[in-house]
Amino acid sequence: MSIRKIGIIGAGLMGNGIAHAALISGFDVVLVDAFAAALDKGLATIHKNMERQVSKATITEADKASALARLISSTDYHALAGTDIVIEAVPESLQIKEAIYAELKDVLAPETILASNTSSISITALAALSGRPDKFIGLHFFNPVPMMKLVEIIRGLATSDQTYELATKLAAQLNKTAAVAQDAPGFIVNRLLCPMLNEAIFMLAEGVADANSIDNAMKLGANHPMGPLALADFIGLDTLLSIMRVLHAELGEDKYRPAPLLVKYVNAGWMGRKSGRGFYNYESAAKA
Ligand code: NAD
Repeated sequence: MSIRKIGIIGAGLMGNGIAHAALISGFDVVLVDAFAAALDKGLATIHKNMERQVSKATITEADKASALARLISSTDYHALAGTDIVIEAVPESLQIKEAIYAELKDVLAPETILASNTSSISITALAALSGRPDKFIGLHFFNPVPMMKLVEIIRGLATSDQTYELATKLAAQLNKTAAVAQDAPGFIVNRLLCPMLNEAIFMLAEGVADANSIDNAMKLGANHPMGPLALADFIGLDTLLSIMRVLHAELGEDKYRPAPLLVKYVNAGWMGRKSGRGFYNYESAAKA
């Protein structure tokens, strides 16, 4: 079996990025979102990002036209019939994902692989809910998907060798480098990255240094492209908090305790870049 036609559920931040990467790599893509407005927004983002690639001459006008001609979009899961793999990128909620997997049971062929882009839910648990545990796998992409080279591949307990091999081949066809992780909280990147961002927030709260000093220290002293507080704002403080809560609950160690200042910011609605305010102020040019 080889993959030709990719279904993607969720046209949000990650879903439209995965669709973009798959189209540019020559796949047929079916993009489904439950909400027409979200689907339109996702499609507009794909068009805009491809247009930007044309203007930068990383793709030609003909590449863009060919890619968009291979894209089908729908608000109906039935459009996913005939796909070789479906990548689910809907919100990080077990209930939402479970309801969608139930709908897919009557739509997808038995041999179709189902992958989740979840950041923090157990792949083994999702696989059990999917009704096709041997054909279920974690494919964890990074934002922005067309630019970021990594995909984490996570096998559930029951994932078959054939599913794993097809997912590995797909990652290479999407021009990504795969890092294979066991099904453990945070996989590789978030298990390492999020505690570091959380520690930077503890340091800020303790008055060890101000935000600019913490960020400049890690940029200039550790060669990180972004400082930890600016990166936390970029990821979204609500997302960071929910990942820390999963690490803390599931690994059961105090070292993963969310920083109280992070909890306070999220309670205040200060979510980082997307809300206009986090450790820095994005509403005005001046930093908070
Ligand atoms: P998002 O909120 O930007 O997009 C989710 C999309 O799913 C929305 O367009 C929404 O309309 C749609 N949706 C909601 N319910 C649906 C349903 N029942 N059927 C079909 N579509 C539905 O979310 P996102 O940031 O793209 O995250 C998606 C997944 O990817 C989550 O599991 C998240 O943990 C994971 N993830 C996110 C990031 C990130 O940086 N944001 C990185 C890696 C993985």
